[in-house]
Amino acid sequence: MRVLGIETSCDETGVAIYDRQQGLLSNQLYSQVKLHADYGGVVPELASRDHVRKTVPLIQEALAEAGLQASDIHGIAYTAGPGLVGALMVGATIGRALAYAWGIPAIGVHHMEGHLLAPMLEANPPAFPFVALLVSGSHTQLIAVTGIGEYQLLGESVDDAAGEAFDKTAKLLGLSYPGGPMLERLAQQGVPGRYKFPRPMTDCPGLEFSFSGLKTSVANTVVYTDANNYQTRADVARAFEEAVVETLMIKCRRALDLTGFQRLVMAGGVSANQLLRTSMDEMIRQRGGEAFYARPEFCTDNGAMTAYVGMVRLQVGTQASLAVTVRPRWPLEELLALDA
Ligand code: AMP
Ligand code: MG
Repeated sequence: MRVLGIETSCDETGVAIYDRQQGLLSNQLYSQVKLHADYGGVVPELASRDHVRKTVPLIQEALAEAGLQASDIHGIAYTAGPGLVGALMVGATIGRALAYAWGIPAIGVHHMEGHLLAPMLEANPPAFPFVALLVSGSHTQLIAVTGIGEYQLLGESVDDAAGEAFDKTAKLLGLSYPGGPMLERLAQQGVPGRYKFPRPMTDCPGLEFSFSGLKTSVANTVVYTDANNYQTRADVARAFEEAVVETLMIKCRRALDLTGFQRLVMAGGVSANQLLRTSMDEMIRQRGGEAFYARPEFCTDNGAMTAYVGMVRLQVGTQASLAVTVRPRWPLEELLALDA
């Protein structure tokens, strides 16, 4: 079975083709980062318009890259949520309509299930069960995963997502959008330990996160220190990064203790962060467990993860009706287990 995946939930147009036997055959990505940079964040209407421009050409590119024709595709998967409603509608409409025209099944994929299963695209995929830490621009969640579609939410952020905290803090430090990778680069020049920010909600039991106070601590520090000094900004960035990383590690350790699972999967844009990866590796190694991440380009939004989830779900016969439906909000726990 060969599935074409279309991802348009936010500011990246991703199209990929996944073959059950051969794996990923093509992977096309167009990022709208430059388009939104002037505004300091994603402008939903501009995002939708750019998806309209890019989706069909990228589908043609993906077919050409794999040396395939429409008749070689057995199913189409599109991101149906969560995400920006207009942006989702573009991919869903094109995906659903193409599948109808080509006479093949279509399926709407949950974007966070895509992120969660992205490490399955790698040579050494994780076995079930595992604890998943989803850290993206919109989500910070710890999930107990016992199979495909078997997701139990253990805890999540009560306010800002980890990626959102990175983006907002980057803005405070005068960095441009998207802030996460820029802040990481600045933090690499920072002296560890010069500033120390709180590790929010680590003193109380539980697996919830809160990152909005951390951003305020940085805002106050920036006001009271020499924020125009490059080294000071780098030191503040480093301290912020360390606070987020340590907070995430403490909660992951707790989730592993609670579930008794040995494996940790980290997914979503923030999991591309090097300090987070090396710190998590070290923590997991000390416990005798195993950590799994997707390669950096599959941590952020992409069509490959959408095609993969589509393939997994289409091959057991699940498919969308002819109606084009998207869900801007869609709890991961509502997904059906694969064998349900
Ligand atoms: P996603 O929502 O999964 O597409 O991921 C995008 C989010 O990940 C944004 O908030 C980015 O700032 C954040 N991000 C991407 N790369 C990094 C990085 N290297 N370090 C920290 N955050 C990152
Ligand atoms: Mg995403």
